[in-house]
Order: sequence, then C-alpha cells, then structure tokens
Amino acid sequence: MRKLILFGALTVAAAAAVALIAQAPPKPQPEEKKPERRLEVHVTPEMIRHSRLNDVLYFVDFLYGVGALLLVLGVGWSVRFRDAAQRAAKRKFLAAMLYFVFLALTLTAIQFPLDFYSDYVVPHQYDLTNQSFASWLGDFAKGLGVNLVIFAPISALALLIIRKIERWWMVLWLGSIPLIILAVVATPLIIDPLFNKFEPLRDELLKRALLDQASRAGIEGSRVYQVNKSKQTKTMNAYVTGLGPSKRIVMWDTLLQKMDRDEILAVMGHEMGHYVMWHIWKGLAFGISVSLVGFFFGQKAYQWGLRRWGATWGIAGRGDPASLPWLIAVSSVIGFLLSPVGSGFSRHIEHQADIFGLELTHLNEPMASAFVKFAEDSKVDPRPPRFIEWWRYSHPSLGRRIDFVMRYRPWAEGKPSELWKPSGR
Ligand SMILES: [Zn+2]
Repeated sequence: MRKLILFGALTVAAAAAVALIAQAPPKPQPEEKKPERRLEVHVTPEMIRHSRLNDVLYFVDFLYGVGALLLVLGVGWSVRFRDAAQRAAKRKFLAAMLYFVFLALTLTAIQFPLDFYSDYVVPHQYDLTNQSFASWLGDFAKGLGVNLVIFAPISALALLIIRKIERWWMVLWLGSIPLIILAVVATPLIIDPLFNKFEPLRDELLKRALLDQASRAGIEGSRVYQVNKSKQTKTMNAYVTGLGPSKRIVMWDTLLQKMDRDEILAVMGHEMGHYVMWHIWKGLAFGISVSLVGFFFGQKAYQWGLRRWGATWGIAGRGDPASLPWLIAVSSVIGFLLSPVGSGFSRHIEHQADIFGLELTHLNEPMASAFVKFAEDSKVDPRPPRFIEWWRYSHPSLGRRIDFVMRYRPWAEGKPSELWKPSGR
C-alpha cells in the first residue's frame, strides 16, 4: 500500500521529489574519531549481497504489485468491492471512496509479506536498525491510515472526472499540479511529524558553524532541523524538503552521532546546494512535465484495456470504481518505465549539489570520508552495475562521487566557481 501510487503524474513527480528527499546511501564505523580520514570504501561481501538483494527486491516489488492489481481484477474482487460499496453508500462519490478503502486494505494485505520482508526482515538481517516489530508495525499502520485519508477522496474525484469529461487525462494532469505542490508544502509540516520528532539543532557550536555556512551559501535564517531517525534506522542521512514556509534542511540524528564536524559541514554544503539552487522546484517542474507524457499514454492504455477486458472483469465503463486497479496498474507500469528518466534527472542535480558543496566549503576530504561512511554504514555497493545505477539510482554511485570530490578543486587553479556565487552575499 505504501507502494500504491495513484496516477502517472503523482508517480513521476513524486519520484522526482522523493529522489531529492530520499537521500544518500550511508556508512559504518562505530569507533571513536580518528584523526586520519579513510577515503576508500572497505567493500565487504555482505555489502555486495545487501545491494544485490535490494536491487532484486526493487524489481520484484514492482512485478508483485502489478500482479496483485491484476489478481484483484481477474478473480472478481474489484467488482464485488464496488457492488458492496454501492450498496453501503448511495452517493457515487462516497461509494467510490469506500471502494478505495476496500481495495487499499486488500492490496496492503496481499503485499504485506513482501513489505515486511523488505522493510523489516532485511534491515534487521543486515544490522541496519534496532526498531522493534511493534514500533515498525505502528509506522506501517500510520502510513496506511495516511494513505487512506489522502487517496480515498483523490481517487473518488479522479474517477468522477474520468466519468464526466472526455479529455479527462488532461484535467487529471492539470489537477495533479496544485495537489503535488500542496503535498510538498504540507508533508514536512503535517505528515513527517506523525512518524518522527523534528527539532532545532541541539548542538549550539555546530549550529553556529552551520548558520555561518548557510549565510555564505545565501540562505537566510535558521532552517536546519534534526530528527530522531535513530528510532527507525542506524543509517545516516540529511535532506532538503518542503516549499515556501516549510522549506528546510533536515539532518538525521544518526548522522550527527557518527560524523565529525567537518564531515557534517561538507554534507550540509551539498544540502545547501539543493536549497539555494531551487532543486525542489526544479524536480517538481521536471516531474510534472514528464508526467504529461505519462498521462497521455496512461489514458490510451487504460481505455485499450477496458475495451479488451472490461466485460471480462465486469467493469461498467470509463470511471467505474471497479476499474481503479487497472488504472493504478497502468500508472505504475508507466511510472516504472519512466524511472530511468527521473533517476537521470535526479543524479544530475545531485551532482550539481556536490559541486556547490565543494565550492562553498572546500572540504574535499571530509566529503569523501562522509561518502565512505555512507556506503559502509548503509552497506551499499559503492560501484553497482551501471544498468542498476542508470535505472534506479537517484544519486551517482558513492564510488563515483568519492572519485569526483577528490579531484574537484577549481579554486586551487585559480578558476572561478561554477555554481556557488560568493558575490551574492
Ligand atoms: Zn542531495
């Protein structure tokens, strides 16, 4: 259900936004700080196994999700849910919302074993988390609740539009734009705090150093938070999220525990790059544009499928709630096929943020050693197969990022910086 993403646009735009948000891979190294920095990842067989397993799960998860949707259609559950919903609620809109609840609960149940394995069993097997099963299940249930509340009305509205409007795909695409923007503004304020506690940085010294760095980057005021992600994971991360009043940089507490001061400043230089270069807006604009293509082909595939199998599945026509699994299946296939596009764009802006961070901080070695820690700590292969990186990596592989940050020093040759503009301050 957490993987149940509704429409092509949401899929792609969310993918682009989430690519920014779902950040870098991470490191280990529980020992006390050593003065010398490790600039090369110590690659272990465990790390490689973990990476390959996640790659396989990524593809299996997609196929399994589409399979579940086709199953719900094929065995007649979808029609039964629709009939039950329509008996329970007279108004079509309410019936469609109720249908969505039945569908979402069913898909969640079908997908639970895989979700449990990927999100609970594997991280425990690889010692990436201490979270108890009860706590994990609590987060899972909250996620389901949030999805129901948000997507039941949205899907009912979408079905209504599909039923009533000839060029519905265009209307859905246009309608997705304000919804996505609203979602990005509201998520850090409303959704994220449901799962974790966010607070201003506690470390005053670090805070001052970061404020100073932020002001050199061109960021006004304090927009830096820390979050108790150690509740869910031992891995580390930092990210930029939100828009307008909710725009902020967030650091996981795990990162604050495991990185030294210069490494934190280097990582934050990267995040500040996202912030200053409007990467959230750029990601949204990119995702929304690409999703137009997705909506166009999605509409074609949706109607083609209904002509072909609609009668077999017992679907009454365009916009029948019972057709929703087909619409979602079509959207997720299109979203999946477009993932290299979103990933490529994301890797591009991630690389820009690396450049910006280095130009701002000149902290090449700390940046590299932070990447070493990311890789070792999250047990991710720093040099994955090129196809995997191309298809699904939102960031350049850590191996390539380390290579880059170790050689990028235009200032040493007296060259001007490319992305960071000191004149602005
Ligand atoms: Zn980034």
